[in-house]
Amino acid sequence: MLSDSEIAKQSQPQPISEIAKSLNIDEQYLIPFGNEITKINISALTAPSQQKDSKLILVSATTPTRAGEGKTTTTIGLGQAFTQLGDSVCLALREPSLGPCMGMKGGATGGGYSQVIPADRINLHFTGDFHAITAANNFISATIDNHIFHGNALNIDPRQIVWRRVMDMNDRSLRKIVLGLGGKMQGIPREGGFDITAASEIMAILCLANDFNDLKRRLNNTLIGYSYADQPIFVKSLGITGALLALLRDALHPNLVQSLEGTPAFIHGGPFANIAHGCNSVLATKMAMHHAEWAITEAGFGFDLGAEKFFDIKCRMAEIDPAAVVLVTTVRALKMHGGMDKNHLTTANTEFVTQGLENLDKHIENVQLFNKNLVVACNRFADDTDEEIAIIRQHVEDKGLLFAESNHYAEGGKGAIELAEKVKLAAEDSKPFEPVYYLQDSVIEKIRKICTAMYGAADVAFTKEAEKDLRHVEKLKLTMLPVCIAKAPSSLSDDPMLHGRPRDFQVTVRNIQVNAGAGFLVVLTGDIMRMPGLPKEPAAMNIELLPNGDITGVG
Ligand code: ADP
Ligand code: MG
Repeated sequence: MLSDSEIAKQSQPQPISEIAKSLNIDEQYLIPFGNEITKINISALTAPSQQKDSKLILVSATTPTRAGEGKTTTTIGLGQAFTQLGDSVCLALREPSLGPCMGMKGGATGGGYSQVIPADRINLHFTGDFHAITAANNFISATIDNHIFHGNALNIDPRQIVWRRVMDMNDRSLRKIVLGLGGKMQGIPREGGFDITAASEIMAILCLANDFNDLKRRLNNTLIGYSYADQPIFVKSLGITGALLALLRDALHPNLVQSLEGTPAFIHGGPFANIAHGCNSVLATKMAMHHAEWAITEAGFGFDLGAEKFFDIKCRMAEIDPAAVVLVTTVRALKMHGGMDKNHLTTANTEFVTQGLENLDKHIENVQLFNKNLVVACNRFADDTDEEIAIIRQHVEDKGLLFAESNHYAEGGKGAIELAEKVKLAAEDSKPFEPVYYLQDSVIEKIRKICTAMYGAADVAFTKEAEKDLRHVEKLKLTMLPVCIAKAPSSLSDDPMLHGRPRDFQVTVRNIQVNAGAGFLVVLTGDIMRMPGLPKEPAAMNIELLPNGDITGVG
């Protein structure tokens, strides 16, 4: 098979203005970045919509292997299938971060015959949204240190600053640093450090904001640290909210591109799915729903992590509700969950697939907990055998549920027609979603409900530190916020090594952090990485710039 970039080269993209026109977006709303990419001004949402009855489809997955099970690729393939069927459709996806792109995983623009283009630009700097978020985040940091340097009128305690710097790069040596060394003129020395931009609260804020007013409100409410008298200090008191809004102005408008087969795709915002809520911006989802009959979106990692947050945080805040869920699984992931050696997942083996089905079952139950209809999609890889796939189909259909084998990677939209038809069936009698917890539940109750109902835990334990954090949240009167649990993505439990369907385990909550601007409490279980490191041989080693200006090896 050809490489992703060779396949992309064969496609004949339409000018992006034509794609916008196909969505009935008036030219006045376009903010073009060349012929292939345009931002769409959010005021397009105030123009009358032709889509009174738009249906949103959420693509999620069973517990993934390290390589990812193909949610993005399936989302794109499914969109292309709708296009082939003559339906009005638009995708809403996350923007890739340079960290994974250069590091372990490579880009995030799909693959094979299901890609969004131009992959090199989307994966590298795109329209600069990540850079704007980085700048806004770091301007808050610079202002805090400058404020202390110039007399510290707010009485900020340098030991209690919770706001960290960010950068869109995997760089482990910046996780913990000392700032302000070098003498009297270089600032006040204190401990600090960097997170990756996708983990910045500004990223989550941008992705949850409904408009500029909401963005402003959220920025003002962002907690940066505490005073010597232990009083909370928020961004509002720094007096820079106007400057932050100016830095973020263009970044708030969603980016429009297209797939290899001309399916429109909004790609906007990229929060991680562990320490943040893990889906594209609310504005991109609303834009897709405003302009197409079918809007298809993705939530990061497995259903327990990304989709739980999609429903309990994003859908609740944005007042949206998907008509159906696509649960992507793969033969290789089920083999891993069945206990097969990770280095031999491409060897045919029906027994391990059968043993791994219990992971799929838990995720199916989880979709149903939200009261949603679903289609299980098996994203087919070249090494999968018909027998292995037949086992999954049989298992799902025996439950009276919808199943589709999806060949979108090898065949594009044509390979996902069965999936699209089943999605239409699933979306027919959709009921409103049931959240896992209510906002008026206590924080402990919210956490307990997610851990027991979603993850299958027997119990939840809180460390002394977490208990202290809980008292703190009460003092700040923020117990009504939803919770965003940071957990290992490779297991339903908080132990990354436990595959399949772990039972009788206890989740340990170590910390609870306040993201008052984003509007959630980040609940940390285990060692959650906010600044990844690069592997020994980073994916970046395959990237080349050719003499003609083309870039290869990205994606
Ligand atoms: P996710 O969104 O779930 O993380 P992606 O769709 O980004 O997963 O896929 C992860 C990687 O696997 C990508 O590099 C993609 O090109 C590749 N991939 C996905 N589906 C297939 C497939 N059916 N065959 C081969 N490679 C695939
Ligand atoms: Mg993805």
